[in-house]
Amino acid sequence: MATTAICWFRRDLRLADNAALAAALRGAEALVPVYVMPARCGRSEAGWLAHSLASLDAGLRKHGSQLMVRHGPAGEVLSALAGECGARTVHCTRMWSPAGLAEEHAVADALAPGRVGLVVAEGSLLVAPDAISTGAGSPYRVFTPYFRAWEGLWDGSALPGGAPEGIPAPGGTVASEPLPPVPAVAPDPTARWTPGEPGAARRLEVFIDDALAHYDEHRDLPALDATSRLSPHLAFGEISPRQVAAAVTGSGLPREVTRPFLRQLAWREFAAHVLHHHPHTLSEPLRPEFARMPWSDDPDALAAWREGRTGYPLVDAGMRQLADTGWMHNRVRLVAASLLTKHLLVPWQTGERYFAESLVDFDAASNVFNWQWVAGCGADAAPYFRIFNPTVQAKRFDPDGEYVRRWVPEVGSDEYPSPIIDHAEARERALAAYSAVRR
Ligand SMILES: Cc1cc2nc3c(=O)[nH]c(=O)nc-3n(C[C@H](O)[C@H](O)[C@H](O)COP(=O)(O)OP(=O)(O)OC[C@H]3O[C@@H](n4cnc5c(N)ncnc54)[C@H](O)[C@@H]3O)c2cc1C
Repeated sequence: MATTAICWFRRDLRLADNAALAAALRGAEALVPVYVMPARCGRSEAGWLAHSLASLDAGLRKHGSQLMVRHGPAGEVLSALAGECGARTVHCTRMWSPAGLAEEHAVADALAPGRVGLVVAEGSLLVAPDAISTGAGSPYRVFTPYFRAWEGLWDGSALPGGAPEGIPAPGGTVASEPLPPVPAVAPDPTARWTPGEPGAARRLEVFIDDALAHYDEHRDLPALDATSRLSPHLAFGEISPRQVAAAVTGSGLPREVTRPFLRQLAWREFAAHVLHHHPHTLSEPLRPEFARMPWSDDPDALAAWREGRTGYPLVDAGMRQLADTGWMHNRVRLVAASLLTKHLLVPWQTGERYFAESLVDFDAASNVFNWQWVAGCGADAAPYFRIFNPTVQAKRFDPDGEYVRRWVPEVGSDEYPSPIIDHAEARERALAAYSAVRR
């Protein structure tokens, strides 16, 4: 009987530099590639996922294979599938989020003991969250020393693996459910990206050719297409961080030019490190004293923020960009999140959930980490007394108003609302609220 292996695709929707796929192919005469649909995912993520799975299926078909799709708890699905196709091993990439690890354990427990084994490979991060610690052996809470240690561990010498030469067909009669349809309500990601592995590779190439040289200088200017926009591709694993880092370091540009970009990739890994060591921060602040923060759920203010009518043009532009495209520029994410948590005192968890539902690049670790950072209650957080002035931020980072006009054409007219809250008053209120935390 042919040796059959299952490759369980998760957020590693690529063929190249996929250690789980490479391991599954080693010695297998038949390979069953499968994706188990998540019980729930955000509106924007669902749109991206549908395109990404179609792209992965097309890539597999070029090799004479095809993607199987199944619904249900991963443990049940994979143990039933292993029974159907006679597989002895299930291969997957480790997902370091608390939910990803819990799913991995559930699958390992569900597979028939002694008959089917789960083999887990790394690949979603350059440095695993538990492979890095301070001199005292504890997890990092401050980014700069983390980054120094991270750079030492990841030296750029590990080159990404290529795409497999051949993929043996599943063999037998393993049935697949249809690929998920593209949801009608989500923003259309194909307007600005090409979801899937080839689109991710192309985006990286374009970024390196057109924008990497000026990344540090321009990355805070939302009117420009000056950042990589690789975040959704990375979130779905259509490209590995190793592929990105290797291409950037191998670009021929000097280290002082490439390092600011690698530093941003390291923020992604720092967020995963913090969440791994403090899984309760998915819903609670890392700094426990912030439980005393007098947050106020204000439905009208929240609705104005979500709909981009706070009267602060940079924030409104960002929120409309998010609603329309599923993505927002990082500088604007910072200012929009700050307005919600500091000016409006709406709990960071409320904003975090809205972003989770809306972002095409939603990543639990990065989202929670950044929301807590902005609110002042997370790792390496901005000090509580640093409260962005959204008007000053707009002048500094969108000096000609080009970004704002693109998303808020009525700015400056009678149709545009006045600010939902006065900045000076909001600042005093936030400082008073934070003093309760410090007491
Ligand atoms: C409130 C808030 C919520 C956020 N939620 C998410 C999220 O759910 N998913 C997500 O991927 N990013 C999130 N970010 C981080 C950041 O805004 C995006 O990663 C970035 O805007 C993506 O655009 P890019 O690919 O062009 O970034 P680039 O500037 O080209 O950076 C390259 C890569 O580095 C990583 N990166 C850059 N900045 C950060 C950062 N601050 N934190 C973590 N990783 C970073 C991303 O993977 C990004 O693709 C959030 C930031 C804020 C302030």
